[in-house]
Formats: sequence, C-alpha cells, structure tokens
Amino acid sequence: MDLLAASLEAGLARVAAAGRLRRRRAVESRDAAGVRTRVAGENLLAFCSNDYLGLAGHSRVAEAFAAAAREWGVGSGASHLVSGHCREHHALEEELAAFTGRERALLFSTGYMANLAVVTALLGRGDRVFMDRLNHASLLDAGLASGARFSRYPHADADALAARLARDDRGGRTLVATDGVFSMDGDVAPLRALASAARTRGAWLFVDDAHGVGVLGPTGRGSLEAACLDADDAPILMGTLGKALGTFGAFVAGSAVLVETLLQTGRTYMYTTALPPAVAAATRESLRVLEDEPWRRERVLGHVAHFRREAAGLGLHLMTSSTPIQPVVLGSEGAAVAASDALREQGLWVPAIRPPTVPAGSARLRITFSAAHETADVDRLLEAVAGLPEHLRRGDPS
Ligand code: PMP
Repeated sequence: MDLLAASLEAGLARVAAAGRLRRRRAVESRDAAGVRTRVAGENLLAFCSNDYLGLAGHSRVAEAFAAAAREWGVGSGASHLVSGHCREHHALEEELAAFTGRERALLFSTGYMANLAVVTALLGRGDRVFMDRLNHASLLDAGLASGARFSRYPHADADALAARLARDDRGGRTLVATDGVFSMDGDVAPLRALASAARTRGAWLFVDDAHGVGVLGPTGRGSLEAACLDADDAPILMGTLGKALGTFGAFVAGSAVLVETLLQTGRTYMYTTALPPAVAAATRESLRVLEDEPWRRERVLGHVAHFRREAAGLGLHLMTSSTPIQPVVLGSEGAAVAASDALREQGLWVPAIRPPTVPAGSARLRITFSAAHETADVDRLLEAVAGLPEHLRRGDPS
C-alpha cells in the first residue's frame, strides 16, 4: 500500500479505536416540517434540526422556491461577480439590510464561507482577533486562516476579554468575534458587555447570529435586538439562512464600506458559485412569513419554557439556555451515545454530540425544538428521558 493510503487507514483506525467514528443516517422520508421522519425503517420524532420555526417546509416558502426555479432554472450558473447575481439575490440583500437595520447586506453560499470572508478580508499579519473559546469552528478556522494574532478568551467572559484587549494593545486592526447564540450550549453571549469592552479599545464586534436570527428579540431580528444593540455596538453581523429562515446560505450585514470590502476582496465571496436564485426567492418569502406569523417564535420558545420547567423536576443537567437549543450534558461519550440510542429505541431522534465538537468530558444530548413540534411531542420526549436509567439521565458532567 502506498504511504498516503496507509496513513489514512491508520488515521481512521485511530478514530474508530477512540469510539469516535461518526455515521450518517439517510432520512428516507419526512413530513414537510422535518419533525416526523423515517430513518432505516424506523419512524422517529426528530429533535435535532435547526429549522426552529418550521419554515423549511412552509407552503409559501416551498411555493416561492418552486416558482423561482421554474422562472430562473435551478443553478445560478456563475459567481456573483461574473453573471450569477440575479434580481432575486439583489432584492434579498436589500431586504436583509432593512431587516437588520444596516446599510447593506451581502449574500454568501454558506455561513462557513461568510465567516471566513469577514475575518480574512479584514485582518492580516500585525492585526488581532479575539474569540470566545466556544465559538463555532468556522470562526475559529477564519481566525487561524487570517494570520492575525489570535486570542481565545474564556467562554462568555467579557472581563477576561477586556483584560486581554488591554494587555495586548500593540496597535493594528482589532476584531472581537462571538457567536450570538452558542451552537452547542444554546446560551446567549453577553453582548452588551462584549460591545462595551470592544468599543473601549477601538475594536469592532462581529456577531455570528446563526442561531439567533429569526428566533430571538421582540421581532425576531436576533440576539442583538434582544440585547437592544445596534450597528454602532456590533458593526458586523453574520446570519445564516439555513436555520430559522428555513432555506440555505448566509449573509453579512453592516456598513457600505464593510460590504463593499467583502465584495471586492472576500475570497470565499469571489471564487464560488452564487446561491441558486430560487433559494433567494424562498428566503424573501421566509422573511415575509416571519413578519406574518410571529406565533411561530412564541410557540418554539413556549416549548422551551415547558421543557425546562418539567426537565428541572427530573433532575436533568440543563444549561443556562433560553433558546431552542437545550443540551443535556452527560459527560462521558459512552453515556451520551447510550442515551441517544435508548431514546431512538423509543422512536425519538436526539443526537449525541461528542468531542471534538464539544470540549472533552462534556459529551451531551443536543435537543432542539421547533415551532412544528406539538406540546404532546415535547411531553413524549420528557417521558422518554424520565424513563432512562439514572446514569443516562444525569450523567457525570464534572
Ligand atoms: N456559525 C454557527 C454558530 C453555526 O452553528 C453554523 C452552522 N452549524 C455556521 C456558522 C455555519 O453556517 P452554514 O451551515 O451555513 O455553513
């Protein structure tokens, strides 16, 4: 066997020996809301999607998608800067700028690419970037790729950030980047304190609100709206379209000079095919549904409150999350996988999340709720969790 193939085999064997091989499960069918699924011959009630408002299967969104695909075809055909930028993309960017209260917005094909573009277009050697230790992998990768001096502060610790900003104040451009809602913990960043620490040192705050947009704030504008912060406080906002908005892709919103810089120099903007115009058209409809059906936000947050109230009585180790992401930390990877398997035997799909996605010793069940769930679905989950053996219910989250 050649050297490369042998080392790949050895690498996979190491992952397997550590019990960390991941398996994909092909969904055979599901209802439009993605909640009632059929997987490998089993009917599973899913608590694992980021489609928090049930918009992915909304009839208006699906119809907008289909109509635009008939009008525009399926693919965009080229990058935005060549010939892929269509009327639907342009209108969506204008609507996202208005939605977020910023001068301009720019579409990206994924949130991962949006984060890479922001950090690498704005920073280079001699600059500095500060990130929460639990930021999404795409932000951490962006920090490394930028070549800037990179500092990770303890999770949600604005005082530690302020101290680091003060200690390492050798000039250069400075960015502070944080998830708005942390994807594996579900908690919200202390945005007011982070904004103040950043402003004091002339740094820009960059908020990745992948899990906040559509869900948080009085009108669903996200975690910044919930914290009463605006574009002066957090000059860069990234939002994804593939979660609460139910479609696919991402955007960055900010000042005209920021967006023009990303358009002119962001490599993951320039060198990739534009989203299908039908995805843009569907997302425009999602924004309208968000306005027309505020009950979806209230309903998913109602499920969260109901779950937390009842789960506390079961002695579960809940995290301080008020969002649709409700992890139950079990500690060991074995316990998390066994709990997920036991729930699947009862017809529930709740994924186990293990290192390296979360820190060692904090393997967990990651439960996510959707407006498409019924209260009876949440009760069914609670009943199943209550029936788990003690060690799979409480774990050892030390
Ligand atoms: N940021 C956060 C916080 C996320 O959770 C995700 C997706 N899991 C992304 C960015 C990447 O977004 P996308 O899936 O559109 O690449």
